[in-house]
Amino acid sequence: MTNDARPPLGVAVIGTGMMGADHVRRIDEVISGARVAAVADIDEGRAKDMAAGIHGCGAYADPAEAMAAPGVDAVLIASPGPAHEETLLAALARDLPVLCEKPMTTGSESALRVLEAELRLGHRRIQVGYMRRYDAEYLQLKALLDSGELGRPLMLHCRHRNVSVHRYFTDEMLINDSVSHEFDAARWLLGQEITAVRVLRPAPSGHAPAGLSDPQFVVFETDGGAIVDVEIFVNSGFGYQVQTEAVCERGTARIGEAHGLMTSTAGRWGGAIAPDFLARFAAAYDREVQAWVDATRRGHVTGPGTWDGYAVAAVCEAGIEAQRTGRRVPVRMIDRPAFPS
Ligand code: NAD
Repeated sequence: MTNDARPPLGVAVIGTGMMGADHVRRIDEVISGARVAAVADIDEGRAKDMAAGIHGCGAYADPAEAMAAPGVDAVLIASPGPAHEETLLAALARDLPVLCEKPMTTGSESALRVLEAELRLGHRRIQVGYMRRYDAEYLQLKALLDSGELGRPLMLHCRHRNVSVHRYFTDEMLINDSVSHEFDAARWLLGQEITAVRVLRPAPSGHAPAGLSDPQFVVFETDGGAIVDVEIFVNSGFGYQVQTEAVCERGTARIGEAHGLMTSTAGRWGGAIAPDFLARFAAAYDREVQAWVDATRRGHVTGPGTWDGYAVAAVCEAGIEAQRTGRRVPVRMIDRPAFPS
C-alpha cells in the first residue's frame, strides 16, 4: 500500500501470455502506484479473460487501441520479440513511457530504428526488461565491483542452465533468448561493451532435441580487456541455475549459489533448485516493475534503455555468426550517441 495521493499509473499490457499474465498479476496484486488499465492480445479471448478479473480494465485485440484507451499512461510490452518494433514505435508516436520485455526488437537494424525514433523524440521513454539488473545478488556484485575493493575485474565465469526447453528451440534462440541475458548483465556489471564473440560446442547431450547443439560455451571479449565465458545448457534436466563468478585482481566473488534453506535428513544434506526463471527471479521482476513505475511517475527512465537493447542485439548477431562459422566474430555497432537524460 502507498500513501501517495497521486492517481496510479494506468498501464496497458500488450501480450497476455506467460510473461504478460505474470506482469498483470504483479501490477494488480504486488506493486504499488500502478493499475492495469488495458490489456491487448491478438488472441482477444485471452485478453478478455485477463481483463475480466480486473476492475476498470479494457480488453483489446489491437495494441494501438489499447494504447489509446482511456486512463492509459504507460505501456508494458510482453508480446513476442518480432512484434516489439511496431508497438514500440506506436508508443513513441504517442509519447508513452514503455517497459518492453527483452529482446527490445529482433535484430540490430530494427533496434537502431527504435533508438533513433527515441532520439528524435528528444527524451528517453523506453526501458528494456533486463531484470537481472534488479536481482538482489546481481546488485550486490555490481556494488562490489564498482567499489574497487577487489581491484579490476579480469574475467566473469557464467553458467545458465534450464531444466528443459520446448522441442522447437534452435541454436539461434540459445543466443537470442538465453545468452542475451548474460550479454546485458556482463556489459552492466563491468561497465564495458562487448567487442567479439566465440562459440564452442562440446558433443551434444543425449537429452538435446534433434538439431539443437546443447550445451554450448560462449566466450566474449570486452573493450576494457575482460574475458567472459558462459556455459549455456538449456536441457540440464535438474533445475534453473544462473551463476556468475567474478575474478578480480584481489579476489573473487560468486552469486547464484542459491544457499537458501538447507536440510539434513536420511544421510543426505541439500536444498532446492528453482524450477524456472519466474521462480528464481520473482523478486527481481517485482523490483524491476516497481522501479519502472516509480521512475515513470517522476517522468524519468532509470533502467536499461534503447542503447542497451541495441548493443545486445548487435552482440547477438555476432554470437549467431560465431555459432555458424566457429570463428571469433567482432561485434559491429555504431558509436554510442549522446542520449538526453
Ligand atoms: P507467450 O508466447 O507466452 O505470450 C505471448 C503473447 O503475446 C501471446 O498471448 C500471444 O497471443 C500474444 N501476441 C502475439 N503477437 C502479438 C501482437 N502483435 N500483439 C499483441 N499480442 C501478441 O510469450 P512469453 O514467454 O510471455 O514472452 C513474451 C516476451 O517476454 C518475449 O519478448 C520474451 O522474450 C520475453 N521473456 C522475457 C523473460 C525474462 O526473463 N525477462 C522470460 C521469458 C520471456
